[in-house]
Amino acid sequence: MKSLTDPFGRIHNYLRISVTDRCNLRCMYCMPPGDSRRHDSASVDGEHPAGSAFPAFGAAYDDLPHVQGLLTFEEIIRVARIFTSLGVNKIRLTGGEPLVRKDLPVLVSQLAQLSGLRSLGMTTNGVLLEKYAQELRDAGLTHLNISLDTLRPDRFVRIAMKPSFASVMKGIESALKVGFQRIKLNVVVMGNVNDDELPDFVAMARTHPVSVRFIEYMPFRSNKWETASFVSWHEMLRRIARVYDWSSAERCYDDSGVAREYRLKGWSGTIGFITSMTEHFCDDCNRLRLTADGSLKSCLFHPAETNLRSALRTGNGDDCIETLIRAVVAQKPATHAPVEQLVAAENRSMIEIGG
Ligand code: SAM
Ligand code: SF4
Repeated sequence: MKSLTDPFGRIHNYLRISVTDRCNLRCMYCMPPGDSRRHDSASVDGEHPAGSAFPAFGAAYDDLPHVQGLLTFEEIIRVARIFTSLGVNKIRLTGGEPLVRKDLPVLVSQLAQLSGLRSLGMTTNGVLLEKYAQELRDAGLTHLNISLDTLRPDRFVRIAMKPSFASVMKGIESALKVGFQRIKLNVVVMGNVNDDELPDFVAMARTHPVSVRFIEYMPFRSNKWETASFVSWHEMLRRIARVYDWSSAERCYDDSGVAREYRLKGWSGTIGFITSMTEHFCDDCNRLRLTADGSLKSCLFHPAETNLRSALRTGNGDDCIETLIRAVVAQKPATHAPVEQLVAAENRSMIEIGG
């Protein structure tokens, strides 16, 4: 059996595929206002026309000439098949917002048929989930992460720049109803923005079978990260323990391998912390990332990338693509730079990489 093993012995069995760099939200930490790449978008092939099907959501990144720039479904499937032949058994679709990519359930059903795949997940902002939850489940999606940074509709508008709170809540309900077994809720915790809501989010795990995962805010190009907006997981825990009796919390298994996950006695759900900034998990990293325009990245925070799209489009065989993939894995850094250095690092923004 082939595997993608790097010089530090880490086996890469997990591929995150970004299917678009467009989004129907504008989260302040991901696609911040003032970024020079923000534009109002025109309709493009391959994606829902912004401004028509979803009139509330007009603006999107549109630097990529999308018709040629985005990997097609055929190209994504071909790359994914090469990866699964190299030992990848877990794929997650991300973006931008994956559900703004037209016909996404079709891609899901094609990926779900790949032999060797154990897990096919998606990270979504949930805005379009009410419409797609059942279709995605039927198509073979196995895992769902939904991002939600506040439980207050007015604050949602401030963080995501769109009045879509109610749609996201309906999306979460629909996802639970159609039987996604353990939905993860991703909450990016930001000082003086939503850090006062930690106990409210924790309360969701008491009654709902969800895993609420608090994510340390990460710095990316022009996302205005600053020390004052950063809340470490230790600080999050300290604040939660002021409200909840944490002495009964038990550490539990987390299939992502990146969250410190806990369950309070008798609760339906769990609480997790993604500690990438204060306590990284690079030693066990098993992830590779494919951007929407077909570049392969070995690390979220490392600017190096290798363009697979041109190799795919110039008649190269699978062995050539495999060689390129192996070269990326061979050059994966041991660890990412500390947070103080990441603030000034040259890298794509989160929405372009795919989280
Ligand atoms: N649009 C989808 C969503 O929001 O779930 C998928 C793409 S989004 C880039 C993937 C994840 O990255 C989301 O959970 C989002 O909250 C997280 N994220 C984006 N920027 C971040 C940052 N600066 N720090 C920490 N997490 C971030
Ligand atoms: Fe869009 Fe997700 Fe980024 Fe928010 S975090 S702007 S929903 S891609």
